[in-house]
Amino acid sequence: MKFLYKVILMLGILIALSCFVQFVVFNKFFISNTDSLLLSTNEKASKDVSMQLVENFNKIQNFVKTVASDEEIRENQELLDKFNEIIPEVDVVTILNSKGDILRMSGNVHSPSVSNLAYTDYFHQAIHGKTYISNVFTSASVTKVVVISVPIVKDGSIDGVVAGTVELQGTSLASMFDNKKFGRSGYISILDSHGYVVYHPDKGEIGKKSIVFGKLQGKSGSKIMKDYSGKDQFVGFSKVPNLNWYVIVITPTADIMTSRNIVVYETFIGSVIVGILIILLGIYTIKRYSKPLDKLIFSFNALKAGKYKKIDPYNYGKEFQEMVRVYNHTIERLEEEYNDLEEAADIDSLTGAYNRRAFNNLLSILKQEISNCSLESLGVLLLDIDRFKELNDTSGHLAGDDILKKLTQIMKSTAGDRSVFRFGGDEFAVVIRNVSDERLLAIAEVIRLKGEEALNGCTVSIGTAKYPKDAYSIDKLIDFADKALYISKKSRNKVTTFVK
Ligand code: GH3
Ligand code: MG
Repeated sequence: MKFLYKVILMLGILIALSCFVQFVVFNKFFISNTDSLLLSTNEKASKDVSMQLVENFNKIQNFVKTVASDEEIRENQELLDKFNEIIPEVDVVTILNSKGDILRMSGNVHSPSVSNLAYTDYFHQAIHGKTYISNVFTSASVTKVVVISVPIVKDGSIDGVVAGTVELQGTSLASMFDNKKFGRSGYISILDSHGYVVYHPDKGEIGKKSIVFGKLQGKSGSKIMKDYSGKDQFVGFSKVPNLNWYVIVITPTADIMTSRNIVVYETFIGSVIVGILIILLGIYTIKRYSKPLDKLIFSFNALKAGKYKKIDPYNYGKEFQEMVRVYNHTIERLEEEYNDLEEAADIDSLTGAYNRRAFNNLLSILKQEISNCSLESLGVLLLDIDRFKELNDTSGHLAGDDILKKLTQIMKSTAGDRSVFRFGGDEFAVVIRNVSDERLLAIAEVIRLKGEEALNGCTVSIGTAKYPKDAYSIDKLIDFADKALYISKKSRNKVTTFVK
């Protein structure tokens, strides 16, 4: 059984080892792969957003250019308003003359605090013939904005500027791209060409300088960077062509680490539970199989020591009940045969009476009963065939044997089968429990008389003694019966009762 326990222990260790290997492999390969997977996912997302921005800004530029090229729209407030409704991303359309004076405004117009915008960068760029997209700045109406400005060309010379304003803290910019979530707290942010935040889900961040801006190099890329509080985050970024803005997609690594740790711990706890279950199952199986085998070994050892022990079949699994049944059946047979042998060992083979060995055993039992005070009374007859030698000599040994058998039958039929013992030769004893003096004497007389009739001329001499009347010990009792027999032998064919 020790071997099986060792196997189970080895199995447990193997499972623990495989958990450890799984853990290491998971950490080393899967986790490092997820890092690069997340970085590339974020980079790709930033590229998608940047493409969407380009498309939208082209659309806005075309819109502003259309306004700049169409005098009818510029001149007619109603037409301008209607036209603006087609492009809701442009919050305000402003028509400026060549001196920067505001001629007309459309869209989300606040009462303007200034009437001339000649000082603005976007006016300056457009009045010099450029189509221009500004960086983020705070407008006269104190909102963060970017402005797309286009020159108005009339008769070959620049006659004014059309400016399309996109308010960054509103929904205009956000509506230009698919604003997905990345992980639990990942997000998209857009920086202008100087690193100022143009878009951020937290509107308070708009217009602030980004700390990751300085680390962004090239058209696109991805890396793990620290945020304001020093925590790592997966950053994928992409430059928006023409605008020179950066779209960045950020996922805090803590988001992923939490999920990873959950997976790692789940795997680990799962493996430990499986390991414990296997060990428990193993121990249960070993016990189920070892218990009956141990019991069987114990019973075989008991058998070796001469004890016939049966096994209770109901304490074991079904698969053992047949084995136990066969074992118990074998034990039963052995016990029977042993008892037969024991019995045979106590029987005299010629006459069928109990032999001297059985007589001695009985004496031991009787002595024990006397010491326990459980023996009430006992009568003993000692018998010897008279002149048996002569019969042997004259009629032969077979005839002698026949006499011995006949006498045994007489004694058994008179005193009971279990009462007759042959000492050896032509000497017998009859032992009877709880018998009166009269009955004992009567039995002796019957035996003597029947012997006289049936033993081909042989007779028997008998001596009797009784416990406790004549003697208080078994040895004395036998001795006194012998003395009585000795007296009978003097005249032969006689019964003598012991008298002190
Ligand atoms: P006594 O009256 O004094 O008892 O005379 P006895 O002839 O019976 O003398 P004893 O008791 O000394 O002789 C016993 C004889 O029993 C001796 C032996 O030949 C005979 N004998 C002993 N065992 C057997 C046996 O198994 N079969 C036969 N046929 N005879 C036996
Ligand atoms: Mg004799």
